[in-house]
Amino acid sequence: MQLEGIHHITAITGDAPRNVDFYARVLGLRLVKKTVNQDDPTIYHLFYGDERGDPGLDLTFFEYPGASPGRAGEGMVHRIGWRVASADAIGYWADRLGDEGTPSERVGARLRFRDPEGLEHELLVDESGDDPLVADHVEVPREMALQGFDGVRAYAAQPEASRALLERAMGFEQRSEAWEVRGRRRGSLYAYDPPPAERGVQGGGTVHHVAFASTVEDHEAWRDRVIGAEARPTPVIDRFYFKSIYFREPSGVLFELATMGPGFTADEPLEHLGEKLSLPPAFEHMREQVEPRLTPLPDIRQWRPRAVPSGYTGPASNSIS
Ligand code: ZN
Repeated sequence: MQLEGIHHITAITGDAPRNVDFYARVLGLRLVKKTVNQDDPTIYHLFYGDERGDPGLDLTFFEYPGASPGRAGEGMVHRIGWRVASADAIGYWADRLGDEGTPSERVGARLRFRDPEGLEHELLVDESGDDPLVADHVEVPREMALQGFDGVRAYAAQPEASRALLERAMGFEQRSEAWEVRGRRRGSLYAYDPPPAERGVQGGGTVHHVAFASTVEDHEAWRDRVIGAEARPTPVIDRFYFKSIYFREPSGVLFELATMGPGFTADEPLEHLGEKLSLPPAFEHMREQVEPRLTPLPDIRQWRPRAVPSGYTGPASNSIS
């Protein structure tokens, strides 16, 4: 029984339209699901992924409209690592972010930058051998595209406190400066840095939790495993697109174990993922109350390849003479 690396990472945004612009336009990810927070259906839960919405590239945001930027502190993830194909891709992103007015910094062969609310990202050339997870986009060439998560770094003062849970219960393996969690098909890194003096503040641009990927069959067994390592998981919660359990690891980071299915095509076809508001069946009866109150968002179809011009209604029926 092995976890297949990171399934998704969930963060917070106070400005959903700007968030969509940054992730779906500037970074070239695909908005694969536009739905509501199942614990508060008056606000969005936005999911950005690769073309198919695969686990391994799934960055999600809870929208808290107007939330002030937060600050990562002890017990919080503070940086998300992403894979790209080559040093040329690193250069491409330095230029593209610069053109957008987003400062970036080269750290060795890597490129570090922050989203508009301060969430820190780092791009690095992939050496994992895992399949690249790529979204199609009108501007970002496939060979330059982000290829999925490499890992996350969190702040912890006493990271040894997490060792037993990570290594014995969850199958993480210590590498030179990170733990690796690797399954049959994919893997990810998880690492700690010493925390800053200031306390963390959960707000815009901070990570809420990180989810690791389980097969559907092993999900309940993972719950028993982490209970055996003194974690206190929630019951299995059906999130419709996947099933989830949540627990806080000893260093304070909120973990989730999410199943690799049924996935985002459970309620809309692959070619139209994320274009309309999706409400899981348990929430569909709330559509008329919920939908008019949600923040208007940019139309993501404009950034999709072969975008259909707005107002286009199909070929004219009398155009063949
Ligand atoms: Zn989650």
